[in-house]
Amino acid sequence: MLTAGARIVCLRCTAKSKRSGEQCKKPALKTSRTQKCDFHGGRSNGPKTQAGKDRQRAAVTKTGAYTKQAAEDRARSTRLLCGLEDAMYVLKMTTMPRSRGRKPLGYVPLKTVEDVVKFALDNPLHLPEGAGGHQE
Ligand SMILES: [Zn+2]
Repeated sequence: MLTAGARIVCLRCTAKSKRSGEQCKKPALKTSRTQKCDFHGGRSNGPKTQAGKDRQRAAVTKTGAYTKQAAEDRARSTRLLCGLEDAMYVLKMTTMPRSRGRKPLGYVPLKTVEDVVKFALDNPLHLPEGAGGHQE
């Protein structure tokens, strides 16, 4: 937005009114981390205590699908799938086109039979005893 008779270009405060639902019409503070004006906590730099940080985290977490833990779980299972695909190619079990796109975090391609053996030993696919899994 523009202020001072359109001489200064600045960001607008992003606070929203509870009553009218309208966005605050003041310019945001230049130093504001959350793009807010003086009235709407523009000088704040976040919760200080651990309890406050936890409260803030709980307030913005809706499903937990984007937490570091969930992302790591996704990356781990995708790495497993990519590893299986690599293994199929190394062992010449398929000639289908390779899957495209970004590879998961921490993915290391398997290129030799030794890599595949190490991968298979590191990632046992059968469930441990008593896990109620289907046994072959
Ligand atoms: Zn404001």
